[in-house]
Amino acid sequence: MSEKDLLAHVPTGLFIGGKWRPTASTIDVLDPSTGVVLASIADASAADATAALDAAVAVQDDWAATAPRVRSDILRKAFDLLQERRDEFALLMTLEMGKPLAESNGEVTYGGEFLRWFSEEAVRITGRYGVNPEGTGRMIVSQHPVGPCYLITPWNFPLAMATRKIAPALAAGCTVVIKPASLTPLTTLYFAKLLDDAGLPAGVVNVLTTSSSSAVTEPLLHDSRLRKLSFTGSTPVGQKLIQQSATNVLRTSMELGGNAPFVVFDDADLDAAVDGAIAAKFRNIGQACTAANRFIVHASVVDEFARRVTERVKGFGIGRGTEEGVTIGPLIDDRAVAKAGKLVDDAVSKGATLLTGGAPVDRDGTFFAPTVLTDVQPGSDILREEIFGPVLAIVPFTDEADAVRLANDTEYGLVSYVFTKDLARGQRMIDKLQTGMMGLNVGVISNAAAPFGGVKQSGIGREGGFEGIHEYLSTKYTMTPVP
Ligand code: NAP
Repeated sequence: MSEKDLLAHVPTGLFIGGKWRPTASTIDVLDPSTGVVLASIADASAADATAALDAAVAVQDDWAATAPRVRSDILRKAFDLLQERRDEFALLMTLEMGKPLAESNGEVTYGGEFLRWFSEEAVRITGRYGVNPEGTGRMIVSQHPVGPCYLITPWNFPLAMATRKIAPALAAGCTVVIKPASLTPLTTLYFAKLLDDAGLPAGVVNVLTTSSSSAVTEPLLHDSRLRKLSFTGSTPVGQKLIQQSATNVLRTSMELGGNAPFVVFDDADLDAAVDGAIAAKFRNIGQACTAANRFIVHASVVDEFARRVTERVKGFGIGRGTEEGVTIGPLIDDRAVAKAGKLVDDAVSKGATLLTGGAPVDRDGTFFAPTVLTDVQPGSDILREEIFGPVLAIVPFTDEADAVRLANDTEYGLVSYVFTKDLARGQRMIDKLQTGMMGLNVGVISNAAAPFGGVKQSGIGREGGFEGIHEYLSTKYTMTPVP
């Protein structure tokens, strides 16, 4: 399908109660590689948000009472349709977000797996039945859908961040209102159409697109009919939403920012470490919460590591994600380009050595040259802030305790990467690094079958794995006397 035909097929309204609704005002969605407007979509108000919650509330009981096998079959049908429409979803993500087509295809695979995984989990929600220790009663523990959920997603993985929330919510029997990021809403709108085609009853999933996230969100969080917020985005916004969720003591799942350490020990397989570094840093043009932010490399291998990654980075193809051979697309917007530039300038001014890149690319769109910095000095902003761009920053270390101290020296705790051939050392790192996930001799860890999530200011809760569905289930304990 051509770009034009695809865009003509993407709905542009709000999806409420199974119907597409236009709004008086609209939001322009841009192609970050050219700045050209791709589509103009509906701009929801607080009243539209209430209407979306009304729709979700109206069908909550019916959806919760729908047989798990039926819920499962709808998710499985959605998985199958996504495979059929794979090329369309991949192209749409590349158009609105900028990542190379091959990576968008990878996201269709990854995002689709949540549909398949949770179609399988929908029929495996179990409880317990037992005798109390006194022998006087029977204890029944059962699981129930938490109720209507509000889901907020970021722009960096337009499909996977939506399916990672929608699939477990539907599997558990919850209805949802989802608000995608205003920068990349088209994929979620197109996905809502797919869910409709898969036979999802009207009102079970509702989509709000808006240019005023806070004006739409706050009233919803203060509406006592809403029972859960699942948010993926930055830590500062997450903190604000946790505060707003306190009023109604909402269940919350928070997938927030990261500042991943990537530790290379002197005994590491350097080929594997370089491959892992390239994947962990430059996937999604560095715009991933799991992106390696600080490369902590043993002094005896740091020069060789820096030389090899720089060689690889110099070979990257920069361009629009639809073009052949492109591995680095644009950043999402001007602010992201300015931030990458500021972090590089700060690091260099404090003594870092720039090995390649370091500045915006002189062409249309929001491109920043893939960059390698070495010998980054303590106190540099780049070690503290989430870079969210294609900048690889290296810090040398000399002993293991030092590496652990440097790795844990952050308020974030999403993921860490460790490269070592020493099994005992690897096990020590599992114990000592303060992160919710770890890649041990591997640079990409995301998997629908695994519990994704962080500790410290990287969040609360887990998405995916056996754990993921429990974010959308409440545990009820019932006591009955001996029959
Ligand atoms: P963001 O600015 O926090 O926005 C995330 C979402 O929240 C968007 O839908 C945004 O909508 C909405 N939002 C912003 N302010 C809001 C408010 N006051 N009330 C309600 N909603 C609000 O983050 P981002 O720039 O899109 O995404 C990048 C961040 O997400 C990074 O920090 C990254 O690490 C994190 N992330 C985490 C994970 C994870 O699983 N831990 C995964 C991916 C990304 P609008 O854009 O429409 O305003």
